[in-house]
Amino acid sequence: MYCERCRRIVEGDKCPECGKLCKRDVKDDDACFLWSGGQIWADMVCDVLNQENIPNFKQGSIGAAMAVLTGLSAETFSVYVPYSHYEQAKEIAESLFQENEAEAEQEAEDAGAAETETEEDE
Ligand SMILES: [Zn+2]
Repeated sequence: MYCERCRRIVEGDKCPECGKLCKRDVKDDDACFLWSGGQIWADMVCDVLNQENIPNFKQGSIGAAMAVLTGLSAETFSVYVPYSHYEQAKEIAESLFQENEAEAEQEAEDAGAAETETEEDE
């Protein structure tokens, strides 16, 4: 099923995000929520999707006025892709963030090791 309010693919018939009852199946051209995060990451996801010729758009979670008050970096962007490209986009996004998470963890470990001894827990 598909939640028109959240633009999400919903397992079952009730949206876990808004609680709305979802009565229609997802269609190929429905925009589906892929991922959300900071602007830099959202831009990166969109760039990679563009490179793969996957149509996409991103939408800020708060209004332009709030973005000015809080600074753009504080805004969270949600990235959407058409359902027809959803599975492909999801794989791309996942592989993208797996790589980056590994790097981030490595950096965190390096930074931590400089100050205190980190425990090996892997
Ligand atoms: Zn919903």
